[in-house]
Amino acid sequence: MLQFVYDILPSRVVFGVGSLDHLGAEIERLGAHKALVLSTPEQRETAWDVAKRLGPKAAGLFDRAVMHVPIEVAHAARELAERLGADCCVAVGGGSTTGLGKAIALTSNLPILAIPTTYAGSEMTPIWGITEAGRKTTGRDPRVLPKSVLYDPALTVSLPAQLTVTSAINSMAHCVEALYSKDANPIISLAAEDAICAFGESLPVVLKDPADLEARSKALYGAWLGGVSLGAVGMALHHKLCHTLGGSFNLPHAETHTVVLPHAAAFNAEAAPEAMSRIARALGVESAPQGLYDLAKSLDAPVSLKSLGLKESDLDKAADIATQNPYWNPRPVTREGIRALLQDAFEGARPTA
Ligand code: NAD
Repeated sequence: MLQFVYDILPSRVVFGVGSLDHLGAEIERLGAHKALVLSTPEQRETAWDVAKRLGPKAAGLFDRAVMHVPIEVAHAARELAERLGADCCVAVGGGSTTGLGKAIALTSNLPILAIPTTYAGSEMTPIWGITEAGRKTTGRDPRVLPKSVLYDPALTVSLPAQLTVTSAINSMAHCVEALYSKDANPIISLAAEDAICAFGESLPVVLKDPADLEARSKALYGAWLGGVSLGAVGMALHHKLCHTLGGSFNLPHAETHTVVLPHAAAFNAEAAPEAMSRIARALGVESAPQGLYDLAKSLDAPVSLKSLGLKESDLDKAADIATQNPYWNPRPVTREGIRALLQDAFEGARPTA
């Protein structure tokens, strides 16, 4: 029987090719006058372009964002924001850059205007993460949710093919787990299913022609809904497992999500039949786990943990860590079950159901 709680997060989205032109108006809406622009070193040029567009409202540029927000980088960015008297952060880039903006907002309350250039979806969530002495701590805080988000598909044209695919499958993982979340609700399920469909349709086109703005728009639309799904409802086994593998074995974030997703779906398939049929419908396939695997393979994405550098001798330890702290999942999580899942993911086997 239908039963749910629906709690929407407040955020403003401007979507479409050319939406970067709305930057000035959005900064004005925030009432900001001194924006600190954030980026990774690789996206310095894009960040400079954004700073130029801001003109006198740009207080400065911090271009040292890196994956998983090391505390030292967060300290340096917070100090610069304070020294410049910044009254907002403009985060231009993927989850690493948005994550840095969130680390600043967490201690300063500065509003964030996010300009996402990957499909990770952090811009739609109140989830922050900071890494200290090799350990990543995460939490939820409404202060870190960006106030305004400019989605301009033109900025994603430069996203390299491999990152396009793994970042998109990272977003699909948010949608898959949203569909069987313990907090699932009808609106988020609609969003999650449509996002999976949008990615399934757009990714093959984007890979053939990375500059196809219609396909890039569809993929970024999927990313928006993937982020909304991640921000609105709790995740389960897949995200816990990827967190363990990333944190304890230093595996790359989006690639790990890409490899694990079909296996996490297979593990949960029997316990979440409604979610599986919606995923399969979105992809136009019979079996959700197989459809996710086949999509990744057809897009030349990595399909085995082996290819990401994990050693077979690490699988026991990974299974131990992943089952240390109990958490909710549609199918009860046992060490034996997780060990078998990890073996399949290690080998890159196609799910059998
Ligand atoms: P990323 O931000 O680390 O970007 C990867 C690389 O791609 C960087 O060098 C970046 O500069 C470059 N890049 C980004 N967009 C580009 C573009 N359009 N053209 C060319 N190069 C581009 O990668 P990501 O996958 O977006 O983010 C991963 C991080 O985000 C992880 O730390 C993850 O934990 C975090 N994350 C957080 C949330 C959340 O809700 N808090 C959600 C998803 C991911």
